[in-house]
Amino acid sequence: MTAGVATHCPYCALQCATTLHPANQPGAGPVSVEPRDFPTNRGGLCQKGWTAAAVLDVPDRLTTPLIRKDGVLTPASWTEALDYVAERINALQAEHGNDSVAVFGGGGLTNEKAYALGKFARVALRTANVDYNGRFCMSSAAAATNRAFGIDRGLPFPLADVGDAQAVLLVGSNLAETMPPAVAHLAKAQEQGGVVVVDPRRTPTAALADVHLQATPGTDLALVLALTHVVLQEGLADQDYLQERTDDPDGLHRSTAGWWPERAERVTGVPAAQIRQAARLLAAAAPANGGEGCVIMTGRGAEQHSKGTDTVTACINLALALGLPGRANSGYGCITGQGNGQGGREHGQKADQLPGYRKIDDPAAREYVANVWGVDPADLPGPGKSAVELIDALGTPEGPKALLVHGSNLIVSAPRLASVRERLASLDLLVVADVVPSETALLADVVFPVTQWAEEEGTMTSLEGRVIRRRQALRPPGDARSDLAIFAGLAERLPTRSDGFSLDPAEVFDELREASKGGIADYAGISWDRLDAGEALFWPCPADDHPGTPRLFADRFATPDGKARIVLVDHRAVADDLRADAPLYLVTGRLLQHYQSGAQTRRVAELASAEPEVFAELHPRVATRLGVPDGGEVELRTARGSMRLAARVSSDVRPDTVFVPFHYGGAGAVNELTNDALDPVSRMPEFKVCAVEVLAVANT
Ligand code: SF4
Repeated sequence: MTAGVATHCPYCALQCATTLHPANQPGAGPVSVEPRDFPTNRGGLCQKGWTAAAVLDVPDRLTTPLIRKDGVLTPASWTEALDYVAERINALQAEHGNDSVAVFGGGGLTNEKAYALGKFARVALRTANVDYNGRFCMSSAAAATNRAFGIDRGLPFPLADVGDAQAVLLVGSNLAETMPPAVAHLAKAQEQGGVVVVDPRRTPTAALADVHLQATPGTDLALVLALTHVVLQEGLADQDYLQERTDDPDGLHRSTAGWWPERAERVTGVPAAQIRQAARLLAAAAPANGGEGCVIMTGRGAEQHSKGTDTVTACINLALALGLPGRANSGYGCITGQGNGQGGREHGQKADQLPGYRKIDDPAAREYVANVWGVDPADLPGPGKSAVELIDALGTPEGPKALLVHGSNLIVSAPRLASVRERLASLDLLVVADVVPSETALLADVVFPVTQWAEEEGTMTSLEGRVIRRRQALRPPGDARSDLAIFAGLAERLPTRSDGFSLDPAEVFDELREASKGGIADYAGISWDRLDAGEALFWPCPADDHPGTPRLFADRFATPDGKARIVLVDHRAVADDLRADAPLYLVTGRLLQHYQSGAQTRRVAELASAEPEVFAELHPRVATRLGVPDGGEVELRTARGSMRLAARVSSDVRPDTVFVPFHYGGAGAVNELTNDALDPVSRMPEFKVCAVEVLAVANT
């Protein structure tokens, strides 16, 4: 094993820098983790990062391929497993066509794996049906920024810029629990009394805010329209910026005129005076008003709604009204969640995209990428179905009969799980590549054991659009191999006889650079040599001598005329709104100790013992009405299902709201209850809010 390997945390998009050393303490894992100074984490790590080594040697780590025989997952060789899967794919595609096989990727895969996955689907399988779990995560913000700015990069500025801002507005982001080291970047705004948080819960992030706007779930859009109304009506907007850098400044006036604070108070529950206070505080920080900078950022709380794209658009419009994008220490940004949620959506895992963030229905993009791949553009399939639509189609007469899943635990993380379970069970073939027997892997016909962070080389792209190196510190256990080996192994067994799938991540990255060249997310000038030499390279970076682009939009937006698009949006009700038999809102979210579906963190003893089980956070008034003590059992019922869980009584949650964390599987999976109503633009499901009935179990 190599000592002192510089790499990054395996979990979230902050990608905190770490150094891995041989572990000498019993039970510490095969390596020990030390934080490393880096602009995003400034030498800090959260509890997940500190304990990340433990996930490398969990007792049930997958180390050999498995094939289901007589109902039991049974060890097999790689040759046997690849032959078996290729034969089944061949038979299904011969009978039902190429689209009968689908691929589902993940936002935790390295750039190299994400790129190879998209190429494998289009070139080796020739299926249109490829999408990934980022559709559940980033898609609303991506859609909104694409249509307003012509480009989607989570933060179009380095995170360090946030640290120099006088005011920061966080809409639906619990930064203090999801990315604790990032809170250091709020210090200046805190000193100046400029942190504003919109959240229906008093989260640890809301607790450190100067103004907490505790809006009714599903009303963020109305609240942001009201903030913009105040900015425009009180003459606090940057009119020169609106005129020069946007396409419809008058439209913004019209679309927010009806959202005076008193009306917004009736919809959002946030006092009108507090709305005015927050708007004035943000406006005072805008450079045009003599401030030192203002940053507006959204998280999943604002985005995972059937109006998520419009809510983000309202935040962008507020930023434009204040003249923020492209200015010092200012702008709008989305806080990407998954480790490679940014890179994962740039290299062709999405149903509608090709590498370089190219549109798959753009003839010029198809021709360019097909040329790099050495195929006929006419043979490139797509666009295909987005994640929820793809899952809904599985096993149906016209839908895919086989699904290959890489780096995603669908049976915990997708909405309306009863339906997902039914669809997966109806497949002829389910193949899962993972590091542990996740809930989804346990349903598979074939399981491939794959390598994880400290066992592989590659790159990730952080929430800032900065490409970073993931480095290998130890050999993979048993017969675990990279996902790249699955793509290459299957590709050579399929009728397309594709041999262009390298096992070497450095070679794959070089091909990715070529495929992304000239695209929106242009990696052409980003080489492993430059990254290893210590250069911080943000895309777009179109040439070897280009310094990369830490800040976007200084002079123009990525639209044909260089102006930002003001898209007019309005509030609308949640898809599954309150009714007599479901009088409370169910909202879901994260805990400090767990990451995403919990497949990794629930296996780390220190994290699992801190938060071992799912719970329902109830306001004391609700608990009293139900007669439920703290720790008592409640049943939650929505239109899609029910679950029983312990109550955690807390005045941090609104009296009309129940909060449940989503990191748990089996009987603890709250996505049994969540709604899969889709945002019409991004196809994001409405994870974040639905109507729920709460009963004390003793009374049911
Ligand atoms: Fe940093 Fe995120 Fe890892 Fe925590 S989970 S150490 S915030 S990268």
